Parts: sequence; structure tokens; C-alpha cells
Amino acid sequence: MLSIVVKAHAKINLSLDILYRRVDGYHELESIMQSIGLHDVVTISIDPDAEVKTLNPAHLIRVATTSPEVPADEENIAFTAAKLLMRHAGKYMPIRINIQKNIPVAAGLAGGSTNAAAVLVGLNQLWRLGLRPVELAEIGEKIGADVPFCIFGGTALVGGIGEKVTPIRRRGEDFGVVLVKPAFGISTAEVYRSLDLAEVRHPNTLGMLDAIIEGDFTRVVENLGNVLESVTLPRYQSLQEIKMALLSAGASGVLQSGSGPTIFGLTPTGAAAVEVAAKLRDRYPTVTATTLSAKGQEIVG
Ligand code: ATP
Repeated sequence: MLSIVVKAHAKINLSLDILYRRVDGYHELESIMQSIGLHDVVTISIDPDAEVKTLNPAHLIRVATTSPEVPADEENIAFTAAKLLMRHAGKYMPIRINIQKNIPVAAGLAGGSTNAAAVLVGLNQLWRLGLRPVELAEIGEKIGADVPFCIFGGTALVGGIGEKVTPIRRRGEDFGVVLVKPAFGISTAEVYRSLDLAEVRHPNTLGMLDAIIEGDFTRVVENLGNVLESVTLPRYQSLQEIKMALLSAGASGVLQSGSGPTIFGLTPTGAAAVEVAAKLRDRYPTVTATTLSAKGQEIVG
């Protein structure tokens, strides 16, 4: 058995705009995505010497996870990632994927997408395929809209339906991030279905781009914006309450990540995020203090 361990980081959207609904029904996105320190640990093992009697991925790939909320079969998108790269590379052998889940599920933090990205990055290394991030991202976009970003990681301007990823070099400190997830999940598809673009206030993507490149915390806070809040905030009053609670606890700016329901608060430093999180822990079930991260996937063993 050969194994590799990958830290698969979650993301937040510092800004998320939907420009228009395309003729194919998808939404044209314009978002600044940012990896954060919070991560799952994905261990991928292959057995190159095993005698293989089938080319059926369902018999070759096994997924295990520590979370009861995540499917441990072909429904897991880490399975899909392994299947696609197996076919692409023509490498048919037993693969075991073990996901230690720390990222809240169905939370707007790209938990599944980053697991799929970890499998692509890990198998690329184990099989010595030498595929570049852009090639892995092309496979990733067949799996899910956030997978290409999760392969590049760090900070990026993301367009199309998620497949156009332009990495950005960010200056300055890793700001602190406090994540608060209420007990319920939100269906991404349902949020997009309910979006009325005539009603939304579009965020200033260019303003955020400039601010994050400069590492200017005040202007990053000023330019936080997510059009999907126009659907979720009126519908779930508790999200507005979480925003107020984060601000009262000391966060400088607050926003919903992706389609929610996670709300994040930004602080100038990681230490400040720990203090804010401590004030909210007894009020909300899932509160996490972390920082921005320069990496999406990290091979650690
Ligand atoms: P995004 O921000 O990319 O929209 P999300 O953070 O809102 O994603 P996920 O945590 O990826 O949502 O979970 C969405 C659904 O995908 C869950 O309901 C879960 O059953 C399913 N799923 C499949 N594979 C995974 C995985 N490896 N990790 C988490 N969820 C998974």
C-alpha cells in the first residue's frame, strides 16, 4: 500500500456576485474566493500490486468518513474524483479514501469540493502523473463548481460557473475568520432557484480585488458582499441575528459564505478571531476560529 495525506482546506467567498442567468440555466458567477485554515484531512491509499479482476470503479474505490452526515459510497464526491482520475490515467487498482471531517457539511464552505480536490491532487502525486493544476481543474470542473478553485486555493477571482479561476497574490497578514453555522443546512440549488436578479445589490468585485491584493483590512471589510443573502436573510431570521452577534462580539465585518448558512466574521488577526469565537460558543452549536490560508490543498505526509 502507498499512502498520501492531504489537508483539504475550506473556502469562504469574500465577495459573491451573480451577473446573469445563462441560456443553459446556470448562473454566471463573479466571486473572490479565499481558502481558510479550517481543513479536513484526506488520506488516500493505493495498492499497485493488487491483483485486479475488474475495471469497475465501484469495486475498486472505497470511501470512509468520520461524519455520519457524509455518504460513504459512490455518492461521495471524493469517490467521483477518484473514478474520473482513474479513467483519465488508466490506472485500475484498489483505492482507499479516508476523510476526517472537520468542515461543517452543507454549510457554504466547499467541504465536499475540497475533498474531491484533495483526491485529485493526492492521486496525481501517488501515480506521478505530473498533471498541472490547470489540468486537474479541468477534471475537477466535471465534479463540482467549487472544485477548480479548491485545487488552486489561496485567493482567486472566480468566474463562469466556477471553472475560470485566476489566482491572486495577496499581500499582508492572514486576517482572522470566525465561522458560525446554525444547526440547519441550506440547499444551494434552492437558493439559486429563488434568486431574483432584478432585486439584488451587486457587490463591488473590483473594490474587493484591489483591497485583498493590498491586504487592506478596512477596505476588505467595506467591500464584503454576497448577492445570495438577498434570498437567505429574509427567509432565515437567525442568520441576521448571527451577523449582529458576531459584530457585537468584536468582528469588524460579517458575511454569509456561498449559499450559506455559515456566516463568517473577519478580524484583523487570528488571535482576535479566537477571542470573538469564545464569546459565541455557548450560543451557537458550531463556532470555529481560523485565519485566511494561502493554500487550498497541502500534502503533509
Ligand atoms: P459548496 O460551498 O461547494 O456549495 P457546501 O459546503 O455547501 O458546498 P458540502 O459540505 O460540500 O456543501 O455538502 C453538500 C452535500 O454534498 C452534502 O449534503 C453531502 O451529503 C454531499 N457530499 C458528498 N460528498 C461529500 C463530502 N466528501 N463532504 C461533504 N459532503 C459531501
